[in-house]
Amino acid sequence: MDQVLAGRTALVTGSTSGIGLGIAKIYAEAGAKVMLNGFGKPEEIAKARAEIGALQGGGDAPYSAADLSKPEAVRQMIREAEGTLGKLDILVNNAGIQFVAPVDEFPDDKFDAIIAINFASNFHAIKAALPGMKQRGWGRIVNIASAHGLVASPHKVAYVSAKHAVVGMTKTVALEVAKLPITCNAICPGFVRTPLAEAQVGPLAKEHGVSEQQALEDFLLDKQPSKRWIEVDEVAQMALYLVGPGSGGVNGAALSIDGGWLAA
Ligand code: NAD
Repeated sequence: MDQVLAGRTALVTGSTSGIGLGIAKIYAEAGAKVMLNGFGKPEEIAKARAEIGALQGGGDAPYSAADLSKPEAVRQMIREAEGTLGKLDILVNNAGIQFVAPVDEFPDDKFDAIIAINFASNFHAIKAALPGMKQRGWGRIVNIASAHGLVASPHKVAYVSAKHAVVGMTKTVALEVAKLPITCNAICPGFVRTPLAEAQVGPLAKEHGVSEQQALEDFLLDKQPSKRWIEVDEVAQMALYLVGPGSGGVNGAALSIDGGWLAA
């Protein structure tokens, strides 16, 4: 791959799994020094660190265990990234969780956790990372929102609210940095084949008394005219475009990658 990110540094939150890991990989392949973050089994984290480390010249990739539900941990993670990487050029706010229930049964603690991790952590990370980007005169912020940042589905009150808020925040930050060589954009994927999305299939099958394949087709991919999962690498390619050469004019966008969902 062309080393379009040579000399750049990046922090990708929630990069021990799924979309974040895919973005960390493609950035490292493109020459960036990448710091990872996220939870998981120690052996899975070690594997991800070794894999990304190998792509950036050997050793383990730097890693922060910050719990993004805690604002001070988010700020500390940004300080650590700036210290370990020497600077922070690219921030990808990707970490996220999901919980599904009708609004009148939605547990308060799940609501608070989704708002904290999927939305508020993006604010705390951007607020902490932006001064360094402004000082050095270059920066790229990519927020992984969702098709649910643009439209709703039932039973996802916290997730839909958090993702709409991420899209709104992306636009606000974009306006504030518009005259600088800094951009802030959101990516709005439909259903992507990752543990977070695949975990929704089993409960849907149980709820409706159908096979998992039927539940996938009838209750998830029914929204996606392409009738297939979006793959992690497809989202990673979009995230690479947004931080690579030639995308400086794209700012405040909420880019859909959803097999046609939003066109319907
Ligand atoms: P995933 O479950 O595979 O990965 C989520 C990552 O976030 C993991 O690394 C996990 O450890 C990390 N994480 C969770 N809670 C955390 C916390 N408190 N602190 C730090 N890290 C934490 O999920 P994914 O599907 O790859 O999702 C990544 C992002 O993409 C999320 O924001 C999600 O909402 C969004 N998204 C996913 C889909 C999809 O269909 N998979 C669609 C649209 C948007």
